Amino acid sequence: MNQTLSEISTKSKQIAAKIEASAKASGRNPHDITLVAVSKRQPMERIDAAWAAGHRVFGENQMVEAEQHWQQKRTDGEAFQLHLIGHLQSNKAVRAVQLFDVIETLDSLKLAKALDAALQKTGTNPEVLVQVNTGEEPQKHGIHPKKLPTFLEQVAANTQIKVTGLMCLPPQGQEPGLHFALLAKLAARHNLPKLSMGMSGDYETAIRFGASSVRVGSSLFGERQSR
Ligand SMILES: *Cc1c(COP(=O)(O)O)cnc(C)c1O
Repeated sequence: MNQTLSEISTKSKQIAAKIEASAKASGRNPHDITLVAVSKRQPMERIDAAWAAGHRVFGENQMVEAEQHWQQKRTDGEAFQLHLIGHLQSNKAVRAVQLFDVIETLDSLKLAKALDAALQKTGTNPEVLVQVNTGEEPQKHGIHPKKLPTFLEQVAANTQIKVTGLMCLPPQGQEPGLHFALLAKLAARHNLPKLSMGMSGDYETAIRFGASSVRVGSSLFGERQSR
């Protein structure tokens, strides 16, 4: 086994053990929690190692890079699940629905309409989550919590998209649990089963607050390359 593979295998087992422990501590079934391995800005060698270690669910935040990392495996017909966890521009909707199985970052009606058209054009059917800007940060994408009910109504009225869940990215330096609790409350209020929350630093907390998937990058792969 090469060194990258043994390092990533070790980290993978550690993360799985922590997911299991936090699930059990909150009376949850560990199998109800999906680990999304965030491969953005990671060298292909590490991505291959994660694949060899058995990972089949990955997250990317940028369209072009996601294609570089994953298009070949799609073409080869490999079985895996790819989540888009970064902002999507409406003009890339067709490419996005062809590559991704889950789009976690619906954040405008314009994008919802573009995705709807893309789905009808391509016949694909990715799962869609709404990104909620729980910290109401001006520089961050996502629907403000107060605007979520109206936004969900507009998506339902104007598109055939079935939103299945919510995603958030808590503000730096704030207690993430408050944001996870808010996201869980909003999801419950709208009967949305999927909750994407928690990253390397706080996924155990997110699981306690009900995360159905956690997005873990650097803890699994190591530090990212700068763009
Ligand atoms: C990069 C990224 C992650 C992974 O972050 P780590 O701290 O490396 O685990 C998770 N979610 C989103 C939206 C990201 O952009």
